[in-house]
Amino acid sequence: MRLQGKVALITGGASGIGLATVHKFVREGAQVVVADIDRERAEKVVAEIEGDGHPGAAAAVQVDVSVYSQVEAAVQRAVDVFGKLDVIFNNAGIAGGKALLDHDPAVDYEPMIRVDQDGVYYGILAAGRQFRAQGTGGVIISTSSIYGEQAAELAFTYSAAKAAVISFTRSAAYELAEYGIRAVAITPGRVGTPIINQFSEELRTTFASEQLRGKLTEPHEIADVVAFLASDEANVINGTVVHVDDGYSVFKKRLD
Ligand code: NAD
Repeated sequence: MRLQGKVALITGGASGIGLATVHKFVREGAQVVVADIDRERAEKVVAEIEGDGHPGAAAAVQVDVSVYSQVEAAVQRAVDVFGKLDVIFNNAGIAGGKALLDHDPAVDYEPMIRVDQDGVYYGILAAGRQFRAQGTGGVIISTSSIYGEQAAELAFTYSAAKAAVISFTRSAAYELAEYGIRAVAITPGRVGTPIINQFSEELRTTFASEQLRGKLTEPHEIADVVAFLASDEANVINGTVVHVDDGYSVFKKRLD
């Protein structure tokens, strides 16, 4: 119960990494706002949590993280329902990409920057203001990616947005330390969520081989790390990147 008494807002909480983190946080004693663009799935997650023996532990809110007023409203929902906010997990994201010279900026750049980059900035800003107003401090965890630290095929926009997430995290930790606010970014590798599961079996096998255990990471394995980072046990992890990539970033396969 390392998150007992904490209130968390988890964006992208209706699927994949966010969903696993919602369940983990509730098991660790937190009260959670499940924030997602998909209202129906967010509400279903809350109903599941209620049915799982955790009445009152979760609330749903529909949010498009690319719209600041909606992110502010999601933070306000946490305050209205649970009285405060202690943790934000800026995790909502979209993936995909095209060769750079085939880009239509209105299709292949702007929408992804709005969700994957602006959405995280808005989460940091809205939660940071709430933490300051409460005078309680708080924790900001944001989902970057292995692609935030490298160039990758067909990922020009995604890599840029995920690199920004790391930069935001450093600057937020620096600027907000005086309010007792901590910021951390995570860089998942290949995680078995709908983002990855949409690809062919062959590609998923390749993805698995890029990690040291030779398999895709399970969403709950990322959630375990996020719960630790959100807890007071991680008080000295600040302004940095936690690689949750099963070694992806530290090895290169030998060519036979
Ligand atoms: P997912 O598709 O299972 O979950 C993403 C969730 O975000 C969905 O519920 C979706 O409805 C929601 N969402 C999308 N756009 C939104 C918006 N504008 N506002 C609010 N919610 C929105 O994917 P996932 O794999 O769990 O991805 C979670 C995060 O992890 C993303 O930021 C992704 O880039 C990152 N990531 C994933 C992997 C991986 O291998 N799966 C690797 C590295 C990073």
